Amino acid sequence: MPVLVMKFGGTSVATLDRIRRAAKRVGVEVAKGYDVIVIVSAMSGKTNELVGWVNETSPLFDAREYDAVVSSGENVTAGLMALTLQEMDVPARSWQGWQVPVQTTSAHSSARIEGIPPTNINAKFAEGMRVAVVAGFQGISPEGRITTLGRGGSDTTAVAFAAAFEAERCDIYTDVDGVYTTDPRVSSKARKLDRIAFEEMLELASLGAKVLQTRSVELAMRYNVRLRVLSSFEEPSDEAGTLVCAEEDIMESNVVAGVAFSRDEAKMTLVSVADRPGIAATIFTALSDAGVNVDMIVQNIAEEGRTDMTWSCPTNEVARAEKAMADAKVDSVINYQELIADTDVAKVSVVGIGMRSHTGVAAKMFRVLSAEGINIRVITTSEIKISVLIDRKYVELAVQALHDAFELEKAA
Ligand code: ASP
Ligand code: MG
Repeated sequence: MPVLVMKFGGTSVATLDRIRRAAKRVGVEVAKGYDVIVIVSAMSGKTNELVGWVNETSPLFDAREYDAVVSSGENVTAGLMALTLQEMDVPARSWQGWQVPVQTTSAHSSARIEGIPPTNINAKFAEGMRVAVVAGFQGISPEGRITTLGRGGSDTTAVAFAAAFEAERCDIYTDVDGVYTTDPRVSSKARKLDRIAFEEMLELASLGAKVLQTRSVELAMRYNVRLRVLSSFEEPSDEAGTLVCAEEDIMESNVVAGVAFSRDEAKMTLVSVADRPGIAATIFTALSDAGVNVDMIVQNIAEEGRTDMTWSCPTNEVARAEKAMADAKVDSVINYQELIADTDVAKVSVVGIGMRSHTGVAAKMFRVLSAEGINIRVITTSEIKISVLIDRKYVELAVQALHDAFELEKAA
């Protein structure tokens, strides 16, 4: 029988009532003839609570025990979902990650899936089980310890199962009805996209659109999993939600698919460092060793053998970056005048595969921002994306102006 993966996020399993609602949707697909793999998140708020308990108990926690604790929310919803299905006379059972097993690396709290042998679950399907309810977010390390896949990891669990079982589709049920051209809370003209290409979704997800865990989109792209994002609160239909799919499956698309933004950005500038071979390597090795996730980088033109180096990173990593640079100065590894941190910036990006074949997108973006009097601090581009760093107070204005200028409220 064909297999379908259905993932229910935290808000879709937040109460027994909602679990019943979700189970009914599963029942509909079973009646259509699918064997279903259901992936569940913990009830909404649960994982945060568990993380809080760990931090309170042990600020410098043992990551293996962190995983043992924070993975438990999914055990509860998996069991409850299986029970609910059984009450509806649908043959179902629950599986924790280690029982499948979902084999992962030992990078506790951010493990990667290495393999999902389908044998155990397939054996049960062969015996007449129709739904395997799997606790999302969890796995087992080569050492036999419980791991978790990073926050939002059940999305990745779902896509990995879809790939491993060659599912016809992977439906991600959430509390929004799809992927939008931008955050509807920022622009009232935001439009739900019927389809979006994997690469665009990947950029949007990593740029701060929080619908899907970035890793899940990477996996979907690699294994060509048809991924659909839809709301569990709306009536089901074949057109519901947004299909994340290969570029070839999209007939028409706008040059710009969406505008993403992230307020959690800081700009740091190392003033007057020696301009010599290896300086960038030294600075960014020190930052990476300190666990700083650098995003944009700008190196100024050198004057009299000295230059400024600017980068952006998440705001909560500024202190770590400052310490790494101060240590490097004390050790005389890097010599600089001062380190300036600006934590009042935000990143705004336009994304679209159409940029590969259209020129002038960057120029238009810069014109729009300048017309609004918004100063651009840093620019980076990729083949399908242009990002700028601006003052944080202008984020809404910038997003709305760009959404209007690229006419994203209109479908192609
Ligand atoms: N419950 C986990 C979290 O909140 C995983 C997930 O829901 O995707 O991060
Ligand atoms: Mg999520």
